[in-house]
Amino acid sequence: MIPIAQLSRLAPRLLRGFLFDLDDTLLDHSKLSEAAYSSLFRLREAGFELYAITGRPAGWAAVIVNQWPITGAVAENGGLAFFTNHAGLHTMDTVLPNERERRLQALSHLCAEIRHAFPDLVPADDTPLRRTDYTFDIGEHQHVPSERVAQVRRFAEERGASTLGSSVHLHVSFDRTDKASGALRLIRALHEVDSSAILTRYAFIGDSENDGSCFAAFRHSIGVSNLSGRPTLTPRYITTRERGAGFVEAAQALLKAGVAPAVA
Ligand SMILES: [Mg+2]
Repeated sequence: MIPIAQLSRLAPRLLRGFLFDLDDTLLDHSKLSEAAYSSLFRLREAGFELYAITGRPAGWAAVIVNQWPITGAVAENGGLAFFTNHAGLHTMDTVLPNERERRLQALSHLCAEIRHAFPDLVPADDTPLRRTDYTFDIGEHQHVPSERVAQVRRFAEERGASTLGSSVHLHVSFDRTDKASGALRLIRALHEVDSSAILTRYAFIGDSENDGSCFAAFRHSIGVSNLSGRPTLTPRYITTRERGAGFVEAAQALLKAGVAPAVA
């Protein structure tokens, strides 16, 4: 992986936007530091479009897209996306309402089975705010050994669900989305730009397995130095500092590189 300080030399005035994960990337153990939040404003002032790309629930994304200096947010690992315009808040779902209700019911039955089979597992405290997945706490307030997490994943996948892990949560869903496809869908809805341009001209920063699709897809992918799990491909760049401080370091590298004049 290339030190993040090299980004300004490798991508001068090339990047149009910055996509970022929340937990253990922008946030320090679920907390938003003043320095990390300020970086968002400096990037926005410089002309970068900003998008949060998170495994956190729809309820969180709807709030931050209204409050933070960002253009949009992808929630639940690509299941839903949000943006605002003059008409207010817009929600993008990958499936129609009837199908969403059917999947929610199937998910509810499956997660009851999981909780019966693994009574030690604790649901994440943001679960009531979710629409497309059910999430267990494996590292936020609980510590669940990796072998136990693997057993739960196998149990869910044998019953037709998909699973994704982050540093804090295990996500179970009947959707087949990921962060990269969710990010592309959102940016294409807002701009007349093709996917290859997005993958070249928007940078992504993350820290763990559920960021793997973005590490693989985006040319300028960045890992904070607390990078964990086993993403399929490692990011292209790496920061020297962890979590929010690593995010600030990456933001400074983008500011030094400068924003692209327009999307090609
Ligand atoms: Mg994370």
